[in-house]
Amino acid sequence: MTDCLFCRMVAGEIPTDVVHETERVLAFRDINPQAPTHVLVIPKEHHATVGALVTADPELLGDVVAGAHVVATQEGLVTDGGAEPGYRLVTNTGPQAGQSVHHVHLHVLGGRGLGWPPG
Ligand code: C5P
Repeated sequence: MTDCLFCRMVAGEIPTDVVHETERVLAFRDINPQAPTHVLVIPKEHHATVGALVTADPELLGDVVAGAHVVATQEGLVTDGGAEPGYRLVTNTGPQAGQSVHHVHLHVLGGRGLGWPPG
């Protein structure tokens, strides 16, 4: 979609701080980070929401989650449930959740203590 910001990033039309890329997935640093690690992981193909993506192509959703795991590993955040720092994956869906870009994305957040429940 030419009017989609993240599709334009995939196309290389907008400067993007890429941290991980595969044939089908792109991960880049959020322009307005909310934590020391704040990376967005997206499918290169346009799907508006996580529900749309899992309905159309569940394997691609798996690829996006795998991309998030690679990013968390690169950032030193992966935990096996022990003392390692850990991280949070967030997918805002729809207006009440605060979705502002309508191209599905996983936020990978970490590097500080994260409160619960979220705001
Ligand atoms: O979940 P939501 O749709 O609100 O997340 C969109 C995210 O995209 C925001 O965290 C925002 O900072 C990020 N963004 C970005 N680069 C842009 C525009 C938005 O990283 N040029």
